[in-house]
Amino acid sequence: MSVKVLGFPWDEMSSYLRGPAEAPARIRAVMDSGSSNLCSEDGLDLSASQDFEVLGDMPLEAGEQAVAQIEATIREFLGRGHRLLSLGGDHAVTYPILRAYGRKFPQLSILHFDAHPDLYEEFEGNRLSHACPFARIMEEGLVQRLVQVGIRTINAQQQAQIERYGVEVFEARHVERNMRIDFAGPVYLSFDLDGIDPAEAPGVSHHEPGGISLRQALDIIQKIEAPLVGADIVELNPRRDDHERTAAVAVKLLKEIGARMLATPQSKV
Ligand code: MN
Ligand code: MN
Repeated sequence: MSVKVLGFPWDEMSSYLRGPAEAPARIRAVMDSGSSNLCSEDGLDLSASQDFEVLGDMPLEAGEQAVAQIEATIREFLGRGHRLLSLGGDHAVTYPILRAYGRKFPQLSILHFDAHPDLYEEFEGNRLSHACPFARIMEEGLVQRLVQVGIRTINAQQQAQIERYGVEVFEARHVERNMRIDFAGPVYLSFDLDGIDPAEAPGVSHHEPGGISLRQALDIIQKIEAPLVGADIVELNPRRDDHERTAAVAVKLLKEIGARMLATPQSKV
């Protein structure tokens, strides 16, 4: 098993600002800049691992064709025994990724960090909007369980969706230090950078103050004991970033998530 880092430069489904299509290249540039090493905090040097490979961007067609392309790409990588750490792009990438993952891993759970539940049935007439991926995933039954962390924008419509799909929500106001969330089966981690407080991660389209810290998120990620079989890091908007601080947050997450993917036992999957 090896982990492949793949970029999806796609922000057509963003409801407010464009820019996340530029994110994967920016994340890789910061990773390669020499400002830090590729060691996770538990000492795994990803640059020395033969099971960790950073690939480039997947070229995508315009419009809905990108959905089919992303799904087919992920399916192909999974079929070869690889695990994907995908770089968005906006959060719309997660639906096609999960169409491939959900079929490969029938007992899958999602751990989802975000300021927003992203559970709208449709948003401004678009069912593929970055505000909707988890509605699509849940209505298609692609996962057994959806756990959301850092949420702080629940309205009545999204609350109804949370109840309809039995979503487990740890709102930002209830997240503490050293939190642990237990999972029985394989886990897919979807990380929207706006889940982190904008003071720490300003380079996102939707600033939502009152967020969790990166440290709180890392606490949860580092305590995952179930097999972490895939992940995405989405919604970096380089046009809104400040001295690439948010790109550096994405690189930090990439290191810690990559290390967890390599460290957690995949044999039980
Ligand atoms: Mn999101
Ligand atoms: Mn969000």
